[in-house]
Amino acid sequence: MLKVRGLEVFYGPIRAVRGIDLDVGKGEIVALLGANGAGKTTTVRAIAGLSSCRGEVTYDGRALVSNAAERNLRAGISLVPEGRGILGSMTVEENLLMGIYCRRDHAQALKDVEDMYARFPILGERRIATARLLSGGEQQMLAIARALLTRPRLLILDEPSLGLAPKTSDFVFDLIAGLKKEGMAILLVEQKARQALKIVDRAYLLETGRIIKSGSAAELAGDPSVSEAFLGGKAAVGTTS
Ligand code: ATP
Repeated sequence: MLKVRGLEVFYGPIRAVRGIDLDVGKGEIVALLGANGAGKTTTVRAIAGLSSCRGEVTYDGRALVSNAAERNLRAGISLVPEGRGILGSMTVEENLLMGIYCRRDHAQALKDVEDMYARFPILGERRIATARLLSGGEQQMLAIARALLTRPRLLILDEPSLGLAPKTSDFVFDLIAGLKKEGMAILLVEQKARQALKIVDRAYLLETGRIIKSGSAAELAGDPSVSEAFLGGKAAVGTTS
């Protein structure tokens, strides 16, 4: 289980994340919600070890190290970044192979790549296609498949539906819900609160670097402040479902 206590992240003198506490339990899917600039990306990048931070981040009691992404990846934390982080000039297959570079069980890892094609047939059909030619939804699928190949114990998804058409966005939310059914622990960053709250167990609301509310998905879905205070009014939430 992920346990974050007193997380602080600075950009120069600016404290962008101001003492966050959050947990993700085994097999749990938890959303980190908030408006633009609330500090969501900064928080998850720090948890994944992609930036320096202060505070305590542990997984199953083991301390994760600030600014040590590869170590944290080996510890089972895999981040699909905002914008997907696909290597556009490389093929689908080359992108997937990036997902197994730090695995030691090479033969099994190659088999897992083949299994990924079975799981996501469109990636199999397009394995030698240049990744930037994929649609937004296919690229998100590729980014998630690459992350799964690292065999994460905790998958962090940073705005996976960003920039996707509503139907494709629905597909991505269904994909995430399916991963939860398989028992994967997930920390999901989203601005589309209503859609996120349909598939998560719990959520935290972030505003200017602080958690200002947390609770079960049902509690937060019925909380008017979620739409009004943090997400730009009912219209912003309403556009997502
Ligand atoms: P969005 O949904 O727009 O991605 P977010 O909630 O993920 O927003 P962050 O990107 O974490 O928010 O940004 C938190 C704050 O830190 C914002 O005020 C942002 O302007 C600032 N910030 C982010 N990256 C940097 C940086 N590299 N240098 C300085 N300030 C930054």
